[in-house]
Parts: sequence; structure tokens; C-alpha cells
Amino acid sequence: MGLRFTKGNIRHTTRILFLTGNVDDRIAILCSGDVRVSATAAAPQSAASHCDVFVLGGGPAGSTIAALLAERGWNVVIAERERHPRFHIGESLLPMNLPMLDRLGVREQVERIGLIKYGAEFSSPQHGAPVTLNFCNAWDKAFPYSYEVRRSVFDQILFSNCIARGAHAFEECRVTGVEFPPCEDVRVRTAPKEGGAREWLARFFVDASGRDTFLASRFGIKRRNPRHNSAAVYGHFAGAKRLSGKEEGNISIFWFEHGWFWFIPLRDGATSVGAVCWPYYMKTRKTDLVRFLLDTIALCPALAERLCDATLTAGATATGNYSYYSERTFGDRHIMLGDAFAFVDPVFSSGVMLAMNSAFLGAEAVNASLRDPATADAALHRFDESVRTGVKEFSWFIFRMTNPTIRDLFMGPQNLLRMEEALLSLLAGDLFRGTPIRWSLCAFKCMYYVNNLAHPWRSLNAWRGRKRANSTPFSTSCLGPSCIPRGATMPSCANWCTTWATISASTPSSASRPL
Ligand SMILES: Cc1cc2nc3c(=O)[nH]c(=O)nc-3n(C[C@H](O)[C@H](O)[C@H](O)COP(=O)(O)OP(=O)(O)OC[C@H]3O[C@@H](n4cnc5c(N)ncnc54)[C@H](O)[C@@H]3O)c2cc1C
Repeated sequence: MGLRFTKGNIRHTTRILFLTGNVDDRIAILCSGDVRVSATAAAPQSAASHCDVFVLGGGPAGSTIAALLAERGWNVVIAERERHPRFHIGESLLPMNLPMLDRLGVREQVERIGLIKYGAEFSSPQHGAPVTLNFCNAWDKAFPYSYEVRRSVFDQILFSNCIARGAHAFEECRVTGVEFPPCEDVRVRTAPKEGGAREWLARFFVDASGRDTFLASRFGIKRRNPRHNSAAVYGHFAGAKRLSGKEEGNISIFWFEHGWFWFIPLRDGATSVGAVCWPYYMKTRKTDLVRFLLDTIALCPALAERLCDATLTAGATATGNYSYYSERTFGDRHIMLGDAFAFVDPVFSSGVMLAMNSAFLGAEAVNASLRDPATADAALHRFDESVRTGVKEFSWFIFRMTNPTIRDLFMGPQNLLRMEEALLSLLAGDLFRGTPIRWSLCAFKCMYYVNNLAHPWRSLNAWRGRKRANSTPFSTSCLGPSCIPRGATMPSCANWCTTWATISASTPSSASRPL
């Protein structure tokens, strides 16, 4: 049976999953009703296979652009080195993810796996009761909620969707090299898990490799963000105390002395908890990661109380050195999407939204480049400007998130000059639709500077602290490898020592997810 990669074949198949590696050798077709038919193709082997667009990476950015371009009739190949569902951190979505999910036609599937998140609760030890900011109070009231999702399942939905829309997908297939010879197609080398190597010739190459920053690393254009420097240690808990009623799915943010925590409740009962800290604190780690995570939680009584009866279910993981950017977003016949271009910080849960949004913008630019090369330059510059705008808008707030003045403003929100509405629109990810929040955000920033002047010593200390943190070099050795005693129980708030005894007694398994 000689199936070839023509649009006709793909269009008439209900759902096609190219399982691994060489599609000419092994094709598995999943028809509706889950009848699996596999056939060995006898198509003639050529030195290299052709496609219009080669997408590296099957995360939210890669799967989104692959779906959008395949839908427009381009011959798209997407390669993912792992097999879905695979673990990924980043479970909290923003309201502005929803129109994109609608456009991709997967909203209902995500609804079935997600827990509705109406807003964000902020807790600070220097302030009284926690404050909740609800998305329904944003400038545009049409997007009052989003979802918390298991990323493994969410990413699988997006990946299956791009296949359903005609992209040719390869899992457990690592991209090992790419070349951009002048006046020829882009050459991409892949290494399927089952062995061998394969070469592809593509008209356009999309880097959606996430934190691997495939192109930026190879081109030597990846830069550490000089204005931000922190790392995260996180795990999943069973039995955490959630907010009640409509607020159950809200994300909670807890500030503490060395940074902040996220608390993200998931629909299956698990809760994702992570600490984002400055390097000097990470360097104090003397214990395994689980102990370190629980020890750090103990420094934040409000969070510790929510985890009093909780159990850590799958060990702890750390991600270090995570704030970076690439000098450019595009070049000769290639673009970089999502984390492959830049990542700043998870505090506003903006990563998946920015990654998917860059894929929507990227799809326009790639489409224009392929249809009419004369328009490519303008299209790519529009893409570049929009992608940078998103990262820049979030960055101003992220850089100042641990500053006591910002904390005051978040803990005592005021809608003077519609500042609260504008802030909520930013938190919802509403940066690309022309919602007129610019002047109110400017007013918020002015208020921040004025408040800083009103507390000169506090502001100076905060500024010095941040400067010191940003100049502290990060060593990943202070974070890993992860030591993973499963089933470690949170201590009662009053007796943390018991926990350390519990953890020491349990046998650590080998490191699961290395840094
Ligand atoms: C600690 C932490 C917490 C976070 N929390 C949140 C949150 O709550 N909400 C949120 O929105 N965002 C969060 N983020 C950010 C979010 O996880 C990312 O921004 C998002 O996953 C980016 O999507 P992406 O498609 O660009 O990359 P990814 O999702 O990382 O996908 C990249 C894919 O490329 C594949 N790949 C890499 N190299 C190769 C190769 N050579 N060959 C083939 N495949 C390859 C990888 O296996 C991966 O599947 C968090 C990030 C961190 C570090």
C-alpha cells in the first residue's frame, strides 16, 4: 500500500496518527470507532522527503501553528521528541487562551478536562486578608474565566487536533540538525527513536522547541535576561485545601520572604504547587529537592496551612535559569515561537497564551511568506513586533513582582482611571485585540513610581535586592538532581520536623526529570 503525503490522502482520512519515525515504513491509521489499521508502505525511498513547513516541537506553539497552516492547505510536518501525553509544567491558562481554543475547534475538549478559573487570589504576609482579582472585572467583560489543565492532556488535545487538520505528525522523533543553504530548501535532520535518520527538505522551518531553544542555542543568540533571575521548585499534592464554591479553580499566589508560590488546583483533585525564588535562596539548598520544597513551603504559613493534610504525590522537580530571550524572532526562512523565542517568568501564567498567540501570528507570517515571498519581510516584521509586545508588557510587571510597592498595589486594588480593569485585562492576556488599556496601565505604572518615592528606603532596599539577585550567577547544581520520595506527607503546620523524619525514612527513587 503506497500512501504518499498528498493533501488528498490526508483530507479523506478521519484521523491519522503517524506513530513513530519513518512514515513511509510504518503508518497507523486510527479511524473513528478506534479500529486501528496499520499498513506497511511500499513507497519508493528517496534521499529526502519534501514538505512546505517543518515544525519542530509538539507543545502548544508547535501544534497550534501546525494546525493553522495545515488547515490552509500547506504540507506541514511536525516532529515531537516525546510521546503524548507527556509531562509538562504550566497548568494555568488565561482567559485569552479561550478564543484561540475556539478558533482551533478544541474548546469543548479542554472544557471537559479543565477546572474553571475565575480569577487569582493574592496573599501577602505583610497584608491582611487575601485579595481576589476576578477576570469578570477586566476592561472587556466578555472573557470572565479560563481553565486550569493537566498539561499532558491539554498538549495532547492540541497535538491530535493538528493531525486531524492534516499535519503529518511524528512522535518520539528528535530533530537533530537544520541547515539553511542559500537558494535551496531548508534541510532538517531527524532521528526517530527506533533508529535511523531521516532528512527533510522544507520551504520554511518553525522552531517551537520550547526551553530547548533549538535555533537560538545553535545560532548563539540566546541571552540570559539581565533584568530577571529566578528558579522554580515544584510538585503535585493530593489533599490540598482548596477555596470553596465558585473560587475552587482560582489560582492562588502567595508571596513570602524569598519569592512567591503558585497553588493551582486541577480537576482530577491534584494541586500543583511551586516556589519561585531568587538564586541566593536556591543556593542555600543542602537537602534533596523534596525536602527543600517542603522546607520552603514551611516558610509561608498561609500556604502551609492549605497543605496541612496534603501528600506530595510525584516527587519534586526544579527548573533553573529560566528567564531568557533570543536576539531575534525570525530569520532566513525560519521563525521562533513561544518559549523557543523567550520566557520570562510563570507568575502571571502567560506562557501558554503567549506561545499559542505567537503561533497564530506566526501562521500569518509563514502563510504570507510561502504565498508571496515579496510580502514575507513585512509579514515577518509584523510578527516580530507583536510577539515582542506581549513579552514586554508582561515583563514590566514580572520584574517588579517581588517589590513591596507592587505588592501594596495588588493587595489594595483601586479602579481609579480604570487601573484595576486595565490590570485585569493584562492578567487575562488581553494585549493583542486593541482593548484600550494602555493609558490606564501607564497610570498604574506612574502610581507605582510615586508610591516608590513615598517610601524611599524600602524602595532602595528592594531595588538593591533585585540588583543583587540579577547579578548572582546561577548554578544548576544548586537545584538538581531531583530526589523523589513518593508519597511524602506534608507536616502538620506545628510540627515540620516530623516531615523530615518521614521523608528520610522513605526510599528516594532515582531522579525522574533532570534539569
Ligand atoms: C516553573 C514554570 C511554571 C510555569 N507555569 C505556567 C502556567 O501556570 N501557565 C502558563 O501558561 N505557562 C506556564 N509556564 C510556561 C509554559 O510552560 C510555557 O511557556 C509553554 O509550555 C510554552 O509552550 P511551547 O509550545 O513554546 O513550548 P513547550 O510546551 O515546551 O513545547 C516544546 C516541545 O518541543 C519538544 N522538543 C524540544 N526539542 C526538540 C527536538 N530537538 N526535537 C523534537 N522535539 C523537541 C519538547 O519535547 C516539547 O514537547 C511555566 C513555566 C515554568 C518554567
